[in-house]
Amino acid sequence: MTGAPQLDHRFARDLPELAVAWRAAPTPAPRILALDEALAAELGLDPAWLRTPDGLGLLTGTIPPEGSQPVAQAYAGHQFGGYSPRLGDGRALLMGEFTTTNDGAFTTTDDGGFIDDGGFATRGGGRDLHLKGSGRTPFARGGDGLAAVGPMLREYIVSRAMHALGIPTTRALAVVATGGTVYRETPLPGAVLARVAASHLRVGTFQYARATDDPDLLRRLADHAIARHYPEVAGSDRPYLDFYRAVVARQADLIARWMLTGFVHGVMNTDNMTISGETIDYGPCAFLDVFDPATVFSSIDEGGRYAYRNQPAIAQWNLARLAEALLPLLATEQSKAVTLATDALAEFAGIYETTWHTGLLAKIGLTPETEEPKIAFELLELMHQEKSDFTSFFRRLPDLSDEPFTPWLQRWRALGPDISLMNRTNPIYIPRNHLVEEALADPGTHLDTLVETISSPFQEKDGRTRYSEAAPPGSGIYRTFCGT
Ligand code: AMP
Ligand code: MG
Repeated sequence: MTGAPQLDHRFARDLPELAVAWRAAPTPAPRILALDEALAAELGLDPAWLRTPDGLGLLTGTIPPEGSQPVAQAYAGHQFGGYSPRLGDGRALLMGEFTTTNDGAFTTTDDGGFIDDGGFATRGGGRDLHLKGSGRTPFARGGDGLAAVGPMLREYIVSRAMHALGIPTTRALAVVATGGTVYRETPLPGAVLARVAASHLRVGTFQYARATDDPDLLRRLADHAIARHYPEVAGSDRPYLDFYRAVVARQADLIARWMLTGFVHGVMNTDNMTISGETIDYGPCAFLDVFDPATVFSSIDEGGRYAYRNQPAIAQWNLARLAEALLPLLATEQSKAVTLATDALAEFAGIYETTWHTGLLAKIGLTPETEEPKIAFELLELMHQEKSDFTSFFRRLPDLSDEPFTPWLQRWRALGPDISLMNRTNPIYIPRNHLVEEALADPGTHLDTLVETISSPFQEKDGRTRYSEAAPPGSGIYRTFCGT
């Protein structure tokens, strides 16, 4: 494709009650800061065209493609446990949906990860083009509708890494500096992030629909989600129960993958949890440096609600909120619906444990058939005690000879670990916190190299040692800020 894409508007068509037609704010002097050319090609977009004024107009929403109908989406959400009935796209727009790629089908380009996710999220077809930082909408409440360059580049970097690590995620197509100024604690350059996702349906979308007390809307929303993400349940005897079970399964698998790579999302509110099972909303997120399950990065998470080790429990809490929203679709009798939902949610634990344990064993070159299945958990305890750097530790394990690990290493070596499995499973390069900060402080010098390095995380690259090493001592406790 050489010009503007044709976008579909299934969301706005199926769910007009959740869509407010809206236009992006003008951008004084748009300039591309980052563009994922491979993703553009996957979507059938010509990267050269995206750099033209019309292309920039698409990426900032200021020149919507002909016939398109950008909308702000309504949703609700529990934020840090407290319910907000009306959040919605306060500074974002859904431009529309791509229905096919250049070769007529969506593919994944994941080059790693211990289990390929097989591109599940887009099985029903379609990918949203969504803009963040495109101006105030009717959902803006007190906000200015804008985003600063730093946080948008952060989302760009981290979501590219997640994709390369084989973790289901929304993807960043581009970051465009607007040429305008955003006022936070200080004046900052503004930007728009163009994001691509299987959809932007969230747990909070269902909470919003349920709160309208319109059973038809709730059903249409569920049918829309099933068609897009879980078409295989459409014909089942209990499609809505099976839909819920499928979301539970996807999320259990996703959270286990986060845990295996040391990813801390930082703000797992119900509006930041997708129905598709993709990671969404990279705000105060970060990867573990030293292994400490209590790690919290977000400056606003004072109680540690979203600490690394709490993520599986929080995911289940959020999924319980989804179940509450779905109850009228599960059974006519409320008590029956509650029983069905409770049993379905209970499936989370087994799925999570399987992915987590299998993945952890793969990290040390073993399979669940090993004679010592608990050996991986023992290693985590030692790593915690010794304050090991989570990412580099596994990659270096074959050459390790540190005293506190000696007895463990002897037992492990006797099991005959598969080193090539370890090398396919354990990344060398992740967007380490100090490297992300360095790239955000001076993108002109550091951004491209960092993105290139983390985009093939399992392959050793010459001259990139500093990208694989732990944060220099004295870097202190890393804090991320939600001031996006
Ligand atoms: P987030 O923290 O990005 O998940 O956003 C939570 C909610 O706040 C969503 O409803 C956003 O649309 C809204 N929001 C965040 N920042 C702004 C802003 N600068 N202007 C308007 N709405 C915003
Ligand atoms: Mg959000």
